[in-house]
Amino acid sequence: MSSSPHTPYLIVGAGLAGCLLAWRLHQAGRRVHLVGSSALPAAYRVAAGVINPVTGRWMTKSWNIDTLLPIAQTTYRAIEAALGIRIYHPIPEIRFCQNADDLKRLGRRLRNPRYANVLGAYHPPGQACPLFTDPHGAFAIEGAAYVDLPKLVGAVQQFFQREGCYQDAPFRYAALRPSGPAWQYGDITTEAVIFCEGAAVKDNPWFGGRGLQAAKGETLLCRSPGLTLPNTLFHHTKWLLPYPDGCFRIGASYDEADLTETPTTAARANLLDAARSALRQSPPIEVVEHLAGIRPSTTDSRPMIGPHPEVAGLYCLNGLGSKGATSAPALSQQLTAHLLEQSPIEPEVDCRRFT
Ligand SMILES: Cc1cc2nc3c(=O)[nH]c(=O)nc-3n(C[C@H](O)[C@H](O)[C@H](O)COP(=O)(O)OP(=O)(O)OC[C@H]3O[C@@H](n4cnc5c(N)ncnc54)[C@H](O)[C@@H]3O)c2cc1C
Repeated sequence: MSSSPHTPYLIVGAGLAGCLLAWRLHQAGRRVHLVGSSALPAAYRVAAGVINPVTGRWMTKSWNIDTLLPIAQTTYRAIEAALGIRIYHPIPEIRFCQNADDLKRLGRRLRNPRYANVLGAYHPPGQACPLFTDPHGAFAIEGAAYVDLPKLVGAVQQFFQREGCYQDAPFRYAALRPSGPAWQYGDITTEAVIFCEGAAVKDNPWFGGRGLQAAKGETLLCRSPGLTLPNTLFHHTKWLLPYPDGCFRIGASYDEADLTETPTTAARANLLDAARSALRQSPPIEVVEHLAGIRPSTTDSRPMIGPHPEVAGLYCLNGLGSKGATSAPALSQQLTAHLLEQSPIEPEVDCRRFT
């Protein structure tokens, strides 16, 4: 069902997914009403926002990266231009091989033409960056960037606040009631409610429990007076992301068992150990900020978007996992096309696969 231009689209959750969807609908000339809560936890506040074209232990191309990356670049650049902010930061990336198997794997990838646009040169030991230990050498990854997600989301929220259509309050599921073919929430009547609550979707009476396999992550914002990192994203066993002010972020931990948002001493120690053992000299590292959050991952590691399988007028945009900065622009575009033009949702990301 496509909403009439007179009723707003009600978007629940003003994080990365909700803000990009609201932005796209607004750009398409539609009214939106965005409900989010600054008092509730959010993954976008914790995330480094890294876009990494080659990921994981097997050093494979990130899912759908050749399609997703150009859409992400265009979207973030357009928002930068419209809102007068800088959020999209391309950055060189160096990944260190951890063992002889990594080296063999890299050799195979370098011979594979599919990887020609994402892999750069191999640097033999001692040549990538003198600050890091690299007994097996390292290689460059092309197309990496980081997106300042808190700045992006904050700017979009402010935009909709100025438009008078942003509500900073927890959404009350019990207050959403069917009203003929539409839905009623307070004084809002809408034909489409789109849930974008990230990991909090577990509490959603319609979409909760469908496919979600959340994973906690922690990162450390650090500084070290004796350490000046070049403007490069370094990926050893963990990644180090330097910022222009001299601070750098270390991340991220991964835990599917503890789903609290509380930072832990164990993750902090583990991240610091990883950074110290990656560096040739072990400078003192001061932790400026220690953040924890929950990634909205799914059991099959694919996003989940689209209409509810049984209840008309309810939709979701979720399951962005640890790659929201890469995938949210394209997924919000796909869902917008579905809402406005009834374009089909790709089966691989259709939330109805979890029924
Ligand atoms: C440690 C860590 C590191 C990460 N690093 C990266 C990275 O480098 N690159 C990357 O791409 N991704 C990264 N991610 C993942 C990224 O944060 C997510 O993919 C992305 O934030 C998901 O966006 P979302 O909008 O679905 O969820 P969120 O960003 O969590 O936003 C959901 C919003 O909905 C709100 N909400 C929920 N329920 C309600 C309710 N009832 N009422 C009102 N509001 C509600 C929440 O408070 C929140 O503001 C990382 C995540 C973690 C935890």
